Amino acid sequence: MNSNKTVTIEEVDAILPQTQCGLCSYDGCKPYAEAIVNHHEALTLCPPGGTSGLKKLGTLLGQDITPFVDLMALKQKPTMLAFIREQDCIGCMKCIQACPVDAIIGSGKFMHTVIASECTGCELCVAPCPVDCIDMIEYEPFANMNEEDTEAYQLARSNHYRQRYRDRNKRLAEQTKQQQEKYSQVKNKQEAIKAALLRAKS
Ligand code: SF4
Ligand code: SF4
Ligand code: SF4
Repeated sequence: MNSNKTVTIEEVDAILPQTQCGLCSYDGCKPYAEAIVNHHEALTLCPPGGTSGLKKLGTLLGQDITPFVDLMALKQKPTMLAFIREQDCIGCMKCIQACPVDAIIGSGKFMHTVIASECTGCELCVAPCPVDCIDMIEYEPFANMNEEDTEAYQLARSNHYRQRYRDRNKRLAEQTKQQQEKYSQVKNKQEAIKAALLRAKS
């Protein structure tokens, strides 16, 4: 491939499907976009984006992707949806912790279920499930759409996933911050008690 034109990480990220699956070997779509822009990473690493994503990236970056289209056609991934066999679920919550877009609902020791409209099909919930009760189902959301509608639908979908991914990360960061603050408060209290005891002794 030729060298990249000057483009921004946001422009590249806008093309990526936001499945957040990590199949590109990066920790989500944005890090892959950063690697493309900053380190000339190959454009062929996103199976959910498939040939259509590859062509869009090639156009944006001014690269000839023709030699890679056949390879991408072989490894492109269809649209998938997770389905939990609820009768087998033991309510361990491991899938919720793994889902990058908060597409699973349920609570400890109760059955869990996937919110189909929010599931990116990333498959990250499958491996952690200790009883193997999550199936991935292939489906065709664009089957009856023309090209223009398919494009619009895909764009709306990826923007939605990106926002949910950001919201989740923000929530997790906030939780971590609160836990750290709580820990510091307890530690400060313990230190104060220790100091008071020492003073009383002396
Ligand atoms: S959809 Fe998956 S493979 Fe494609 S860029 Fe995002 S994380 Fe990487
Ligand atoms: S439910 Fe599973 S497949 Fe769907 S987005 Fe969450 S982790 Fe990915
Ligand atoms: S990981 Fe499996 S068993 Fe555990 S809550 Fe999720 S679906 Fe149920």
